[in-house]
Order: sequence, then C-alpha cells, then structure tokens
Amino acid sequence: DKYELKKLKYLPSTTIDGHHVRICANIGTMHDIVKAQENGAEGVGLYRTEFLFMNRNELPTEEEQFQAYKNAAEYMSNKSIIIRIMDIGGDKNLPYMNLPYEENPFLGWRAIRIMIDKKDMLHTQLRAILRASFFGKLLIMYPMIISVEEIQQLNIELNLLKTQLRNERKKFDENIKVGIMIETPASAIIAHHLIKEVDFFSIGTNDLTQYTLAVDRGNKLISHLYNPISPSILILINKVIEASHAAGKWTAMCGEMAGDELAIPLLLGMGLDEFSMSSTSILQIKKIIRNTHYKDAKKLAQKALNYSTTESLMQLLKNKKKQHI
Ligand code: PEP
Ligand code: MG
Repeated sequence: DKYELKKLKYLPSTTIDGHHVRICANIGTMHDIVKAQENGAEGVGLYRTEFLFMNRNELPTEEEQFQAYKNAAEYMSNKSIIIRIMDIGGDKNLPYMNLPYEENPFLGWRAIRIMIDKKDMLHTQLRAILRASFFGKLLIMYPMIISVEEIQQLNIELNLLKTQLRNERKKFDENIKVGIMIETPASAIIAHHLIKEVDFFSIGTNDLTQYTLAVDRGNKLISHLYNPISPSILILINKVIEASHAAGKWTAMCGEMAGDELAIPLLLGMGLDEFSMSSTSILQIKKIIRNTHYKDAKKLAQKALNYSTTESLMQLLKNKKKQHI
C-alpha cells in the first residue's frame, strides 16, 4: 500500500473531472523541507520561522535568517515557499526576549503585534526574506491579522525596506507576493476588505477554531469541543474563499484541517485552491483528491453549509469517505 502511494508522487493533484488544486507542505526545519521534496509537495504553504528563533540565546541576525531562507529557496528550486513572519507569543515563548507574564497569552502580545511594536525585529526578518527572494520563489505571510490597518502598517514597512535595498543595490524579487493568515474570526468576517490589501489568504484552522469556538486548542478538558468541522467554522471558511475569488485571488489552508481526510471533499467543494499539510499526509490526501469528482464535492459543500450540527456534518463526511474506499 505504501508502494501504491509512492507512485502518486509525480502525478498531479487533480480530480477525476480535471480540477487541479495544489498540495503543499508545512515546514519548520531543514529536515522538514527534505521530507517535503521526498513526498512531492508542489511547494511550501507554511514555513514556520519560529524555529529559527527558538533553542538559542539571542535573536537570529539578518545574515543568519537570509542564509536559512536562501537555502530553503534553493532547495525547493522553482517551487514556491510561503514564509510566515515570526509567530512567537501565545504558547511559544522565547526566554531571551523576556516577554512579560500575561493572563491570556493567546489573546496577548503575539506574532505581528510584537513585530509592529519592535520594528527592528520586523525589519531584520523582512530584509532577510526580500534578499533571499532573489534565489527562488518566496512569498511573505503575516500571521494573526485582525484588521486592514495592520496590513497597511506592515506593508508600509515592507515598501520602505524595498527602497532601502534598491539604494544598497541589493537584489530581490520586485514582484514578491504578500498574503495573510486568516486565523481570527475578525479576519474571516472582514475578508472582503482584507483581500484588497493582499495577494492571497491562508486559513489557519488551528487558531481559527480556537478563537471562534472559544476553545483552547491545547486544553484536554475541552478537546471534545474542539472540531473545525462545525457549522460556524465552515461558514467562515466558505466566506473567506468566496471573498478571495470575487477579487480574482486565491485561498490556501495551512491548519491541520487541510490534512484531515474527512474534510478534503468538503474543502475541495468550497473551492479551496491550496492544501498545505505535514509532508507525511501529502500522498494520502492526493489519493483522495484524485478519486473525487469536483462536481460531487461542490454539491457536498452546498449541502454541508446548510447543516446545523457538528454531529450531522461528521456523519455526512464519514458516509462520503466510505464511498471512496
Ligand atoms: C493555525 O493556526 O492553523 C496555523 C497553521 O498556525 P500555528 O499552528 O502555527 O499557530
Ligand atoms: Mg496559528
């Protein structure tokens, strides 16, 4: 069976009736990127840069980050890599930064909230990404966005750094694309406004589920309440995809849901353009997509969006899955 899956590596992730979607990998380390290539990822949908900041005693320099992003770009050759701006805070701490104690770290000083307040850190990372963009196909992604103003503030800094690099005669990709993670309810609700500021969306269902359902993603006491396959989350996901398509743009998903076998036909039917997941799931998910009719998936999605309970949704998707095995 493993051998069967291996044969899928070089085949496209296209439905029976010819609808293509991209299957990409989530990576953190260089080891993950090797796995991504081994499993035939079409690109990297989420490069979690936090790992460059962790297990050390000081912030990584521009040069260190530049080398890491350049290595990744070159290793993936012409494939695209979405580099996420540092997402420290929440449950991820950096001892050497002396972050203050917070009552509610997940609702606190996290990700771009830190970067907007600590412009030096933002500039260092953005300059490193821009310089590395000359060596491959890199995209920039801002996490934890809740407003248009945040994107505008971040893009002002990005444009400033581009001018700076031009003056220094340093090369970078002038057409580098910029996107945001949709992982807060606020961002999903105003997706039609946010899309005007960016080139793409990537839905982070891990946090989107946590924040929409008000269920801590790591708390075992309430883990039975934590399920992205729920009416509220599906309505948000559908709205986000529609908003991007209405603007002629695209939506990816890089939360765990994108690699969940049950959810695949549903997400496909909603029109999701890119599925990014742990490399170990890629071939299995590709198999499911290649065994699905896009036309059927669309009908399934329409039906699911009218369901009012998680239980009935789970049943619908389990029945659908049985048809494919
Ligand atoms: C998410 O929130 O879904 C996500 C992909 O980001 P992380 O898991 O790193 O918070
Ligand atoms: Mg997240």
